[in-house]
Amino acid sequence: MKKHNFSAGPCILPQEVLLKASEAVMDFNNEGLSLLEISHRSKPFVDVMEKARSLALELLGLEGKGYKALFLQGGASTQFLMVALNLLEKRAGYLNTGTWSDKAIKEAKIYDDVYEVASSKSAGFNYIPKGYDIPSDYDYFHCTSNNTIFGTQMKAFPKCDIPMVCDMSSDIFSRTLDFTKFDLIYAGAQKNMGPAGTTLVVIKEDILGKVSRKIPSIMDYKQHIDKGSMYNTPPVFAVYTTMLTLEWLKNLGGIKAIEKVNEMKARVMYSEIDLNPLFKGYSVKEDRSNMNATFTLINDNLKDTFETMLKEAGINGINGHRSVGGYRASMYNALPLDSVKALVEVMSELETKA
Ligand code: PLP
Repeated sequence: MKKHNFSAGPCILPQEVLLKASEAVMDFNNEGLSLLEISHRSKPFVDVMEKARSLALELLGLEGKGYKALFLQGGASTQFLMVALNLLEKRAGYLNTGTWSDKAIKEAKIYDDVYEVASSKSAGFNYIPKGYDIPSDYDYFHCTSNNTIFGTQMKAFPKCDIPMVCDMSSDIFSRTLDFTKFDLIYAGAQKNMGPAGTTLVVIKEDILGKVSRKIPSIMDYKQHIDKGSMYNTPPVFAVYTTMLTLEWLKNLGGIKAIEKVNEMKARVMYSEIDLNPLFKGYSVKEDRSNMNATFTLINDNLKDTFETMLKEAGINGINGHRSVGGYRASMYNALPLDSVKALVEVMSELETKA
């Protein structure tokens, strides 16, 4: 039985993407070589890289607007320091909404001064702070659009007169936004794009070249842009699979189309959490994430029964992050509505057994 995969990442990918990716591992482009064996400088792979880069910009509505897309290595965690190395001259403002923002702040502090404009840390990161000011003389403002671990999501972004940098690792390509508001977006591939191994970075080129420090070449966005995202050997499998997912999304109707499905899945999930007296949501309602629903089972005595039922229904990966506990249902783009319905069915069946 194919499992309902609610994992937080790496996570579910579209079936057709998995099929095409596995075919390419055996024989890429009908050329008698595996995707893993070909040169990254060969024309077929250069075409893949270019297509992935242009699809990313097209889907975000950023084509022809001064942005460049890169597929880099080192995960989103490397972006925590690359952002600071490339943009931080004196002081930057960070919004602290979870473990990943916290880590981004820690890395940036290595290079220069960081000011937390607001934080929800003392409340266990169960909400998104609002109503803070972003000083206009800072180098940039950094935020995390979706907090994978705590299940909160920024529904609105602040007015910002300085470059806005956003870690969109866990909700990229899942909802419509005015992406031109952002000057730098980064996202690890392993949620809504493909396997771990590459990170999408979308940069407005004119924010670069303003810091006085020397930047090591591999950490320098400008170098990566100048080399067409091929400064060094790229992770070919991760980039190819990401390209397939972006094609899949485009064929579905783009972000607008998937957003409707994502909203529906979140509605079904959260209404069960709210109506079923056995469960309690973790994050405050207005800031709930459409990607990661976090909740707890109120009566611990039912834990074993619930988990046996989940197993029998083929539900995978809903254990909460170790720092929060409880459960987390991750509902990324490739997760079908039917999987959410299967989970909700188990939750309501548990109610009849309580
Ligand atoms: N940022 C967010 C929002 C994440 O969810 C994660 C990982 O789950 C990361 C950053 C770190 O990503 P990576 O493991 O690619 O470094």
